[in-house]
Amino acid sequence: MKITFHGAARTVTGSMHLLEVNGSRLLLDCGLFQGRRNETYEKNRTFPFDVTKIDAVLLSHAHIDHSGNLPNLVKQGYSGPIYCTRATAELTDIMLRDSGHIQERQAENINHHKTKRGETPVEPLYTEADAEQVEPLLKSVKYDEAIPVADGVTATFYDAGHILGSAAISLHLEEKKQKKRLWFSGDIGRLGLPILRDPVLPTDDVDILLMESTYGDKPHRDPEEAYQEMKTVIRKTLDRKGKVIIPAFAVGRTQELVYNLSRMYDEGDLPNVPVYVDSPLAVNASDIFKRHEECYDEEMKALVHSGHPALDFKLLTYITDLEESKALNTRTDPMIIISASGMAEAGRIVYHIRWGIENKRNTIMIVSWQSPETLGRKLAEREKTVKIMGETYRCRAEIATIGGLSAHAGQDFLVKYASAVKGKADAVFLVHGEERGALPLQEKLKENRVKHIYYPAPHSSAEL
Ligand SMILES: [Zn+2]
Ligand SMILES: [Zn+2]
Repeated sequence: MKITFHGAARTVTGSMHLLEVNGSRLLLDCGLFQGRRNETYEKNRTFPFDVTKIDAVLLSHAHIDHSGNLPNLVKQGYSGPIYCTRATAELTDIMLRDSGHIQERQAENINHHKTKRGETPVEPLYTEADAEQVEPLLKSVKYDEAIPVADGVTATFYDAGHILGSAAISLHLEEKKQKKRLWFSGDIGRLGLPILRDPVLPTDDVDILLMESTYGDKPHRDPEEAYQEMKTVIRKTLDRKGKVIIPAFAVGRTQELVYNLSRMYDEGDLPNVPVYVDSPLAVNASDIFKRHEECYDEEMKALVHSGHPALDFKLLTYITDLEESKALNTRTDPMIIISASGMAEAGRIVYHIRWGIENKRNTIMIVSWQSPETLGRKLAEREKTVKIMGETYRCRAEIATIGGLSAHAGQDFLVKYASAVKGKADAVFLVHGEERGALPLQEKLKENRVKHIYYPAPHSSAEL
């Protein structure tokens, strides 16, 4: 038995691990490396193994850094099953199509400049049509049900409490009478996140633990504190008749914001102003959230059973139509707009920011981590002017950054997670984390008597 850490090794994106058991070859996740195009294009295009020899893929959740290279895998000849929960299958399908569309647009932009210079055009990593080929291979599985996935390998998906459908995957492995239990955490959620159940902890019979370490350096703030802070900022903005403009990831964060706003209105904390979710992907994702009651926590179930519509309220409008989206720009009445992309690099949010940024009555609310160089990061760092679509704008709107809304576990919960194996594991591999997250976590785990902790390098292997 052997595992090779091909992606999300000493970094956060590109989650992908190859497991070899009993002659079978399984892929845990098939994520996209994200970052500057020049650095990631080749890395994503070329798989470090023979694609046609993979027997099965096990997918932890729909986020692009875990699912985003599946279209490429299929394009290069993979035709086996991709196991995941039903909610993950539905979310993955819409996210991959969207990703294919983005890849095509990016290639078009690059080729526009290349053809002017007489250079050879680039191919998109994959197209929307390529992405559509993944859906027939997605095999949905129920939480907590053991299923055989390859000779000598049984898999069980447990709720990871990170996004809708997210799972940790527990694997029973058997090779030449040797038995091992491997637990792959996927991305670990948090206790008390809205809508979702809390993450299931690994059990003490786990021999090999593969766990994420994104925020291994610090505990998070309490989500309730973040909620209160958000409420204060919104109320202040609406009182001065401004717009609240929120860049948000279409899947996960948008639904969490809608849930929070719905609560604020129900509790009578906000004046009656309209709320718009303006992103076709977010609208599709919200529909999927509404359909998957089996993933809800007790609070969300009780809310829905009391007759309250899930992720909907009277003042909320979901917008897909482009003209309706544009119409918001010229309106000057107070409102709340949630739109994608989450880092304000592309999509409709860019227009909302452009129209709203120079008015000091407005607030641009940053609710997630922002990559360096993105418009979202520049705003969060309170630069006085920013370039949007080639033009310079003064930042006169209030900028509010709300921490503590992360869907990832903080250090304290990661320690609890690893400690659940009670120091009995043969190995704890820290993946999905940069050094600044993983190394402090490693220290903290040692203090808590977790043994045999490794931080594997990209493409390194371990015998199990
Ligand atoms: Zn994730
Ligand atoms: Zn991730």
